[in-house]
This record gives sequence, structure tokens and C-alpha cells, in this order.
Amino acid sequence: MTGPTQLAERFGTPSYVYDLDRVAAARDDLFAALPDGIEVFYAAKANPHPELLRELRSGGAHGCHAEISSVGELDAALQAGFPGDRILYTGPGKTTGELTEALTRGVRLFSTESLGDLCRVGRTALELGLTADCLIRVNNAIGAAATSIRMTGVPSQFGFDSETLPGLAAELKDVPGTRIAGLHFFPLSNAKDEASLIAEFRHTLATAAILQDALGVTFRLVDIGGGFAAPYAVQGERPVYAGLRDALTEALDEHFPGWRGGAPRIACESGRYLVADSGTLVTSVVNVKDSRDARYVVLDAGINTFGGMSGLGRILPVSVEPHESAGANGTPANLAGPLCTPGDLLGRNVPLPEPAPGDLLTVPNAGAYGPTASLLMFLGRPAPAEIVVRGADLVSVSRIEHSRTYEHGQAL
Ligand SMILES: *Cc1c(COP(=O)(O)O)cnc(C)c1O
Repeated sequence: MTGPTQLAERFGTPSYVYDLDRVAAARDDLFAALPDGIEVFYAAKANPHPELLRELRSGGAHGCHAEISSVGELDAALQAGFPGDRILYTGPGKTTGELTEALTRGVRLFSTESLGDLCRVGRTALELGLTADCLIRVNNAIGAAATSIRMTGVPSQFGFDSETLPGLAAELKDVPGTRIAGLHFFPLSNAKDEASLIAEFRHTLATAAILQDALGVTFRLVDIGGGFAAPYAVQGERPVYAGLRDALTEALDEHFPGWRGGAPRIACESGRYLVADSGTLVTSVVNVKDSRDARYVVLDAGINTFGGMSGLGRILPVSVEPHESAGANGTPANLAGPLCTPGDLLGRNVPLPEPAPGDLLTVPNAGAYGPTASLLMFLGRPAPAEIVVRGADLVSVSRIEHSRTYEHGQAL
């Protein structure tokens, strides 16, 4: 059998192993948990590896669209075969340069976060002789669910404040180069349970219906956001959303009776649910050191490899599986990375059997927010290998390169 540790032995550590079969399974489970006809936008920031993107795009009626937020993610999505009309461009800092690039390469749908943002999209489209379809992102005044990451209800760089949005109706409808396509919500991430997810979707749909009336626009697309959860660097399974399909169908029938016929189209978004459990990080023990009453297991993977969108010093609830060669019975150890900063800790008091240099440890459910959400450049270590498999078959091995390019000799 060629498991992650065998692959890591062959290609070196630290390395990520992603299994496309698991990506496909997550994609199919998510579509099965949703009413038929709902579109799913994959948030490329969770893992922009083109092979994972390609897997999420395929799947026929159960293929995802792509949600991107940079020219780098645009490259990855196009490389993975997403046509421009299956891409949504989002983000609070869209520059004229990147909007030009996106529009030129076929993207027509943008989420806009403010009047200034909408006008910039419009000016850029007009310049190219195009019209951009724009979603108005909503920063809802009140949320419905208690969650780990609240995105709305407070001041934010994201979205139009829902309470003042109706007053902007006339201006929004009159921005040359744009057409209002509908609304975009993303009120929560990683919902704590199915009940919170359902409550938030209900609340979102009710708000969307009110705003449709208030704005006097017939929406063609309502993106109700996400919140689908996944274990992150700990043991565990993706949640099963057994009641979501019926609850969402009921809420959609109530607030947007034409949705079954695509008026409006309804979309939701997911990153972590689709890719987290496809990935395993394999790292080697470099050194074991006891200091006073604490044990430090120094690994070749730190916050440069698995930073989890690190602010320095933010410790993930990392759990590891020791390779068979490591003995039995655990002593709590701090998992330190190789970087020259005390902030490079992946875990505290993680129980580990007698670890020794050369042992391999695996971090489970590490397919989302891995290399590209890490401090990849810090201290100049190479990026981890990313090994893609489909079940027992090796698909590819790659590594992100970082290099400096110079422009010498230019006159000042
Ligand atoms: C980050 C993000 C997502 C993905 O979030 P997950 O918790 O990984 O599902 C989706 N939509 C938007 C707008 C985001 O910013």
C-alpha cells in the first residue's frame, strides 16, 4: 500500500498528500446535502492546487464553480479548465489592473463590497467595452447563528451594510458598465453544527428577499454563502448535513418561489468542507529536546509549512499520528517547527510516543488552508512537496517555487 508516509519517504518531508478521490467524495456529499439545482462555488483560497480545482470542476451536474480573489487564483482556475462564466471574482481590494486581467480573460461576475468598488468594476468594464454582472455583497446587520468566525453585523471591509443599502438603490442601478445580478452573503465560516447553518441560511434568504423588494431589482443570482464545516488538523470526520436539503428547500420556496426554475439561480460557497479531509501533512522529527519540565519535538514543518492563516503564535488544535516505528504510550510534547522564532509552534502538549529523529508524524485533515495560507517565504525554506494521488495512483508531485526577480540597470 502506498499511504502518505510511504509517499513522503519517497519524495521527502515535509509533504502534503492530497487524495482526489476524497475531494470527489466531499464534492458529491455536499451536492447531495443541498437541494437539486443549487450551485456551489469553491473558494479557491482554501486550496488553489490546480488538480484539486479540476476535480471540483468535474462531476457533471455536481461540478463546482470557482470563487477567486486574485490573478494568481485566476491563473489556477483557468489552468484547471474553469470557463470564465463559471468564475466569481470577490474581495475587498480589487485593483483596476487585476479587474482588467479578469475581464480580459473571460470573467464577467464580480462580488462588490462598496459603491467605490462597484464603480471601479464598472469603469474597468466600460474601458474594455464590456458589461460586468455584479453581486452586491451584504454585511447583514444581525446574524442568526453563533459561530467561530463572524463576518458580519459589525463594521467590516466586506460588503454593503444592510441597513443603509436600500438608500443606495438608485445609485447602484445606475453605474455604467455594470448590471446588478443579485446579492452575495458570507456571514459565517465553519458553522458549529447543522442547526446554526440552517438558521443562518434562513436568515440570509429572508434578508435577501427583503432587499430585493427594497432595491427594486429582480435578482438573477443569490449567493447565500457557506459555513460548511470540516475538521482541521485534528482527527475526525466531515459533518453529515441530513436535514439541510429539506430545510433549505422550504426556505427557498418561501422567499424565492421561482428558484426551481432558476429565477433566481441560488448558489452557496465552500472551501474547507470540500478539501480539508483530502489532505495529510507528513513531517519528520528533526530533534527531540527536553527543557526544564517541557519536551520539544522539533519538526521539519512549522508555520512556514502549515501556518493555518497564521497570525504568529496562533496554535491550531493539531493532532498527529505517529508512524509505526515510533513506540507506544504518549508523553505530552510541544511540536516546534524549524524557524528561528518562538512563534513557530504547531501544537502544545500533544501526546506522543517516544519520538526520535527520523520518525514521521502525520497531521490529518490538512487539505485546506495549508501551504498557501502559511508563512511560506519566512526564513527561506523550500515550500513543502504537494503530492496528489487518486486512491492508489500517483497523479503528480509539485512544489511552489519562490524566487526573486530583478530589474537591473533601469534609469531612475
Ligand atoms: C474564505 C471564504 C470562503 C470559504 O470558507 P470556508 O470556511 O473554507 O468554507 C467562502 N466564501 C468567501 C467569501 C470566503 O471569504
